[in-house]
Amino acid sequence: MTTKEYIDIAEKNLLHTYNRYQIVLEKGDGVYLYDTDGKKYLDFAAGIAVFAFGYGNKVYNDALKEQIDKIIHTSNLYYNIPATVAAERLVKISGLDRVFFTNSGTEAIEGAVKTARRYAYDKDGTTDHEIIAMKHSFHGRSMGALSVTGNDKYQEPFKPLIGGVKFAEFNNLDSVKELVTDKTCAIILEPVQGEGGIYPATEEFIKGVRKICDENDILLIFDEIQCGMGRTGKMLAHEYYGVKPDVMTLAKALGCGIPVGAFLTTEKAAALKPGDHGTTYGGNPLATAAINAVLDLFENTDILSNVNEVSAYLESELDKLVDEFDCVKGRRGKGLMQGLILNKPANDVILKAMDEGLLVISAGAEVLRMVPPLIITKENVDEMITILRKALQ
Ligand SMILES: *Cc1c(COP(=O)(O)O)cnc(C)c1O
Repeated sequence: MTTKEYIDIAEKNLLHTYNRYQIVLEKGDGVYLYDTDGKKYLDFAAGIAVFAFGYGNKVYNDALKEQIDKIIHTSNLYYNIPATVAAERLVKISGLDRVFFTNSGTEAIEGAVKTARRYAYDKDGTTDHEIIAMKHSFHGRSMGALSVTGNDKYQEPFKPLIGGVKFAEFNNLDSVKELVTDKTCAIILEPVQGEGGIYPATEEFIKGVRKICDENDILLIFDEIQCGMGRTGKMLAHEYYGVKPDVMTLAKALGCGIPVGAFLTTEKAAALKPGDHGTTYGGNPLATAAINAVLDLFENTDILSNVNEVSAYLESELDKLVDEFDCVKGRRGKGLMQGLILNKPANDVILKAMDEGLLVISAGAEVLRMVPPLIITKENVDEMITILRKALQ
């Protein structure tokens, strides 16, 4: 079949919830992807901050193949080895106490929100608790996660959403304080906002929110789905701030392509009890074997050093573009989670870059988002910058 035929069939049959780019990706190798016409792309999107260790990684692929031949699924009615191992490792990495595995990021958020509601219900027996979320946040598309996502356009057609959610200004502590009541059960935020435009939290803000939560017995939920798992140069982005959450969500690079997410809680916040929550697939042996393979790669390669070294170089090269082009207004980000702020539609640049063999994505209408595989090199950065220069011209 030709590329056009694949695209026509996809458009005829798939629900049209995405305006997809007009290429069909067929295979990958390291930091490169190939489409059905054999065209090669340098990948600065990584399947939206997912594929951290590159395509065709042998350690990862072999681990999955081995698990497939043993057992793929068991349900959560029984114990299984990969989930047991992965749970212990994630608890150790996070400094939190308990983990629940999900199939996606949005489900991890659902679990976090239910945890907060359950925690508050256990305390006072009432059911009208409130959650404070941030403007420009993104937490997912299921009804609970959408309810805490600070984006009117995503929310409006699906109202009424879950009640009791209020939105504060990110990095504005006073705006959070104003919303706190004796009904507030949780404050949820991304340490580095992703889809909303790549906004890192300030230390003052994160520490201030932690203090508010401590003073009022409110659970602090960090959504590390995009900024976690080494993306910012530390295993978890909140390590930069020296502040611990009560609940944390992970997904995206957690399984590096096998759909898996998780929410973790402290012992104190582990409010969900038998019967309160469940999932058929969540944490199945294949998904959690993927987590273990990813954690093996983190342990056995010096990936965080690579992220720190290459991202410093990436930042300086991107800053040159800010000086060089009128249409580039600035840069924001941490580690290998960078946004180039344009004063024109990011999509125009994305399409031109794609023509030239570079995949980048957007975060909002005028922010170009770069979330490459964590294994990229300085040479890859040079290659990307050469193409981006052409696209910006
Ligand atoms: C992608 C994302 C989600 C949603 O994850 P899905 O796996 O797409 O459901 C939630 N929060 C953040 C910060 C994300 O980047």
